[in-house]
Amino acid sequence: MKILVLNCGSSSIKYALYNMEDQSVVTSGGIEKIGLPDSFIKLKYNGKKVQIDAPVPEHTAGVQLIFKVLTEGDYAVISDLHELDAVGHRMVHGGERFSKSVLLTPEVMEQFAACNDLAPLHNPANIKGVNAVKALLPDIPQVGVFDTAFHQTMPDYAYMYALPYDLYKQHGVRRYGFHGTSHRYVSQRVCEFLGVKPEGLRLITCHIGNGGSITAVKDGRSVDTSMGLTPLEGLMMGTRSGDIDAGAITFLMDKFNLDTKGISNLLNKQSGLAGVSGLSSDFRDILAGIADGNERARLAKEMYCYRIKKYIGAYAAAMGGVDVILFTAGAGENQYEVREGATKGLEFLGVKLDDARNRACRATEAVISSDDSKVKIVVIPTDEELMIALDTLAIVQG
Ligand code: AMP
Repeated sequence: MKILVLNCGSSSIKYALYNMEDQSVVTSGGIEKIGLPDSFIKLKYNGKKVQIDAPVPEHTAGVQLIFKVLTEGDYAVISDLHELDAVGHRMVHGGERFSKSVLLTPEVMEQFAACNDLAPLHNPANIKGVNAVKALLPDIPQVGVFDTAFHQTMPDYAYMYALPYDLYKQHGVRRYGFHGTSHRYVSQRVCEFLGVKPEGLRLITCHIGNGGSITAVKDGRSVDTSMGLTPLEGLMMGTRSGDIDAGAITFLMDKFNLDTKGISNLLNKQSGLAGVSGLSSDFRDILAGIADGNERARLAKEMYCYRIKKYIGAYAAAMGGVDVILFTAGAGENQYEVREGATKGLEFLGVKLDDARNRACRATEAVISSDDSKVKIVVIPTDEELMIALDTLAIVQG
């Protein structure tokens, strides 16, 4: 069985083709700069990286180009599109309507479109992707896997904001959380890796990439998460501020005469590691800055790790303790400095990092706590695409 996974953003489409017999990736790639004159597709073929310039004015043309590259020319991996059994889509904001992955029927698409105002940049792009596939392969089953779905198990006292209640009832203003597919994948995978059951397990999953979020997972279910109505809340990120006094927002708007676009730009694009360090949003550049003696880079790193540590403490409190702390995504998988900064000082909770194991671990599944640590610290590389492919397979097989 072959499943195509699509992740349609506003100006990009990423894809991966899976052979579900052995869960292997046959090929993967992505189109960037959709709608711009210098759009291109890049892909991996037999371990080689290839980039082809191609005009891609909009999403249907993008999906068409992906289909063409899959079936024709030097990089073809299937002879006919009908070899595809299903398409799985990453869908961003499912609001309260979707607590698990679903077959994308016209009724479901209508409900999904009703969530558009919660993610005005992302959801319309997802819809375009689904429609583009439908136009080209009208009969293929398509499945939606939502970033927000995993967090729909949060209790009301965790997801509510202390705002007038009508804003929740009438406009859906509440915490939804994101990166749900990643948090779900690693929280399932860690149980297989450690040979434990989700029932009774108090797990904290730290997805530390360019965007970052932390989730408290109890009995295999999300009970709290750091991102909120939008992916701006919570941790300090590459360019996002994360948690900030709401009063600071009105202060900044008044002081600098910013409109909503201006303040959103400041908080989403000019803050975080980039804003504090003045150097870069990339953690590798921050570390290089520290090595050069850059004081603001040091500060940015310490703030970044401190914020993760505070959330770990908060979620241990929320779950009445913690058994496993898990790191994943770009910086969580690759940077031992982040894991060290986020867990040192938590010995009072029974958290004991093994320095040698931590330093040796780079993007592999590993336990990095010491043998006598009460709490296990684990690294599990995330794989959102595989999770989407697995959900798609489960749904098309009924
Ligand atoms: P992501 O959004 O998951 O791709 O993560 C990006 C973040 O991970 C950036 O801050 C990178 O500095 C950091 N990172 C560190 N090492 C690596 C690596 N080997 N590959 C990718 N990202 C890395």
